[in-house]
Amino acid sequence: MLDFPSKTIKSIKDLLLKQKKEVEKEIKEIQKEDPAKEEVLAESSEPGTDSYIADAHTRVMALGEQLNKANKNIQLALSKIGKGTYGKCENCGKQIEVGRLMAMPTASLCLSCSKAQK
Ligand SMILES: [Zn+2]
Repeated sequence: MLDFPSKTIKSIKDLLLKQKKEVEKEIKEIQKEDPAKEEVLAESSEPGTDSYIADAHTRVMALGEQLNKANKNIQLALSKIGKGTYGKCENCGKQIEVGRLMAMPTASLCLSCSKAQK
């Protein structure tokens, strides 16, 4: 059984919800910026702009993938809080250091396991 003071869990949850909002906002923003969206493509029919658009589109896609991954991790952490399994190291099963979780609320490994993985 993991032993977190409910106050700690609450502040971590607040942190996660705040991060979730930010990530979701960023996802929306980069989608707006994607030049490969149809309406933008229709406007820029000049020759020679295609590769620029493709490059920018690739960048936006990569960034979007990162943000989606971050969003997924946040949701996973939130569901773990709901189930009461939050803060358990996925490798050794020990409780992850509270300080580490406060700094990185989506951490799924304890400090020593994450060091061992590198
Ligand atoms: Zn561990």
